[in-house]
Amino acid sequence: MEYEKNTKGMVFDIQRFSVHDGPGIRSIVFLKGCPLSCHWCSNPESQRPEKQIMFISHNCIGCGRCTRACPTGALTFNPSFSLDHEKCQRCGRCVDVCFSNALNMSGEVQTVEQVLHELKKDNLHYRRSGGGITLSGGEPLFQPNFARELLKGCKAKGWHTAIETTGFVAASVLESILPWVDLILLDIKHMDGEKHRHYTGQPNQVILNNARIMGSYGTPIIIRVPVIPNVNDSIREIQDIAEFALSIKGVKELHLLPYHRLGENKYQYLGYDYKLKGIEPHNKETIKNLQKAVIEKGFVCKIGG
Ligand code: SF4
Ligand code: SF4
Repeated sequence: MEYEKNTKGMVFDIQRFSVHDGPGIRSIVFLKGCPLSCHWCSNPESQRPEKQIMFISHNCIGCGRCTRACPTGALTFNPSFSLDHEKCQRCGRCVDVCFSNALNMSGEVQTVEQVLHELKKDNLHYRRSGGGITLSGGEPLFQPNFARELLKGCKAKGWHTAIETTGFVAASVLESILPWVDLILLDIKHMDGEKHRHYTGQPNQVILNNARIMGSYGTPIIIRVPVIPNVNDSIREIQDIAEFALSIKGVKELHLLPYHRLGENKYQYLGYDYKLKGIEPHNKETIKNLQKAVIEKGFVCKIGG
């Protein structure tokens, strides 16, 4: 199978040995850039398409090496750390001289071949476990050419492929990707368009239409719902999503992903506000009740990825 091995993309992480996000043992490739900005996003560094500096203040010893290394004067410590995003050229010199691991660069341009080389290390695990590769993000289809060529490259090696997608993408892009995808993990956040727009920054119509396109294509789909306190955690709201899922061909499972706060620190590292500050995760009983409501609609319903 032909693929463009020199196509470049912006990758911010590759996680090996994952047992989530698809069957078997998998490697998850995280691509940068997302059209949504969900309040609960646990990978806020995935949202912007370009490289970003993350400052971990508790690691900083105040040595000043970074400010001296910066060629543009983008970094100051007056009185506390400040990064002028306009001036920053993302050269990474400050990161290179920070021996305290207080500065990290999120995002690296990689070619399809480079990513495949990394993924190949676990070839045996994919084969023995029935696993493979999952493209995640951000929104992996935000970089459509890179995602497509990478998926083609994975298929050329005989690996199972999955995409974890928001579904917020042009239909033409989606259709150009689907031939290379074995499993779709589609996030549906809310059936109410206004609430969806409020909490994610985008309406849900494109996503719902794309779910129908995915269904008509025949690729297996797992719908995943991040369950967020006071956003979509009533039985009615989850049932509305389950009813929509029933109308989509190919959906066999609907998973619930309980809200957690594991990504909260990253907001601080990026200098962002965390909009769900103080919101507590659900107790087990609430999630179990929502799971029951989904099962009653006829779906296999796992909790978590
Ligand atoms: S080089 Fe690292 S440890 Fe030193 S002042 Fe800069 S961020 Fe802090
Ligand atoms: S990435 Fe380069 S330009 Fe940006 S703050 Fe660091 S040293 Fe300065």
